Amino acid sequence: MTVTDTAATTGSVPWPEAPETAEVLARIDALGPGWRERARALDEGVEFPHENFAEAREAGLHALCLPTEYGGAGYWLPGRYSPWYQALERMARWETNTAQLIQVHNHAAGIIAWHSTPEQRDRFLPEIADGAFCASLGSEAHLYENGAEVLESELTRVDGGYRLTARKGFASVAAAAKYLMVWCAVEGDTPYVSRMVFAVVDVGSEGVELLDDWQMLGMRSTISCGVKFTDVFVPDSHVVGNPGGWVTEDPRTFSCGYASNHLGSAQAAFDFLAEYIGGRPDLADSEAVRVKLGQMDAQLFAARSCLNATAARLDRGDDPDECEADAVRTMHLAKDAVLTIPYQGFDLVGARACHERYPLGQMMRDARTFTLHFRDDLYVERLAQLALGNGFSAKGGRGGSTPFEVGSGSTAQATAGA
Ligand SMILES: Cc1cc2nc3c(=O)[nH]c(=O)nc-3n(C[C@H](O)[C@H](O)[C@H](O)COP(=O)(O)OP(=O)(O)OC[C@H]3O[C@@H](n4cnc5c(N)ncnc54)[C@H](O)[C@@H]3O)c2cc1C
Repeated sequence: MTVTDTAATTGSVPWPEAPETAEVLARIDALGPGWRERARALDEGVEFPHENFAEAREAGLHALCLPTEYGGAGYWLPGRYSPWYQALERMARWETNTAQLIQVHNHAAGIIAWHSTPEQRDRFLPEIADGAFCASLGSEAHLYENGAEVLESELTRVDGGYRLTARKGFASVAAAAKYLMVWCAVEGDTPYVSRMVFAVVDVGSEGVELLDDWQMLGMRSTISCGVKFTDVFVPDSHVVGNPGGWVTEDPRTFSCGYASNHLGSAQAAFDFLAEYIGGRPDLADSEAVRVKLGQMDAQLFAARSCLNATAARLDRGDDPDECEADAVRTMHLAKDAVLTIPYQGFDLVGARACHERYPLGQMMRDARTFTLHFRDDLYVERLAQLALGNGFSAKGGRGGSTPFEVGSGSTAQATAGA
């Protein structure tokens, strides 16, 4: 099957049958060169990759995390974690921004699928299969304000549903989304995380405003802007999940998703270095250069081996806390690879490689920005607690996948980001 034979053109669902991984990777490889070609202009213009998204939809990449009953590939579910991470890594190897956006959308779709009632699944999932994109709005770190991030978005009960007044930050995909999946709490006195549900808000609803605040060092074409909700009506039908269900009913996290993107981006930087050095006998003949390149190669292999091993554990259904500890280890290694390979690579290829016609500079900026999404210091500290005998909880501690509470307050950590 070719890219053009899929849902949008045939009227069928994106994946009539659960696909072979090779088929998904082949479709990504067919689109990848175009994504890479556009990357620089999108970065310069701070523009959302609409064309890439349209192509991804044609190729069924928007439905990778939809259940197979709804025409999805059924990824990010038991037995189908590994191909999801392979697809993410491959997309990021071509273009990290587009890969991140497709990841966010797919995770949001996977969350809606998991936590919805049967009626909600029948309402939302066919629309998503048909190409409605979803953003995932957890973060309340506002770009033009400083201070601690505090999660406080709350739904207020009214007749037939709720009202939402809130401000979210860093809303990747919002620029192309039909649905804004808002991480928020129902009213109550219990900890925020135990009241948390997902409000699936139509981006065209009265009171929704996308803010023009995305002027960043890297990941510029994601347009992960702020979004303001002013007294927005959210009908009961659009509030998904039981309060606290993300923590108590869903073992999944985002850690391996991020690791996959970082690994793919690091591999792309390595590919560039190898090609550049390979074309310069003066560099390729240097043992010092080759030693460094060889170390990078091994670094990538180590991070990828960890990702594969963690994905295999998830697929086997191993204990979720143990899997997440491995996922956090993997994410740490993948971040290290994506931060060090482009940066140190410049020492190998020199100043001329700083010219804007080469991709390494943007790769370095994108990696620096993207790796700030989850705070490395906070989650590796949890590995130390585990080593010290203090246990580890996939969803109950400071990670990138769940807000945490400090004392009795509601200090939040990077929530969703999906
Ligand atoms: C490209 C990109 C896309 C994103 N997309 C989304 C999205 O779609 N949806 C979404 O919900 N979110 C998204 N996020 C946001 C992300 O989830 C975080 O909410 C956001 O990055 C937090 O901003 P901050 O680093 O300024 O936070 P801060 O909490 O202000 O952290 C600032 C710094 O303080 C340090 N720090 C804080 N507390 C401690 C501590 N106790 N000990 C040691 N150090 C500490 C951290 O290491 C960090 O470097 C995105 C982020 C990026 C970069």
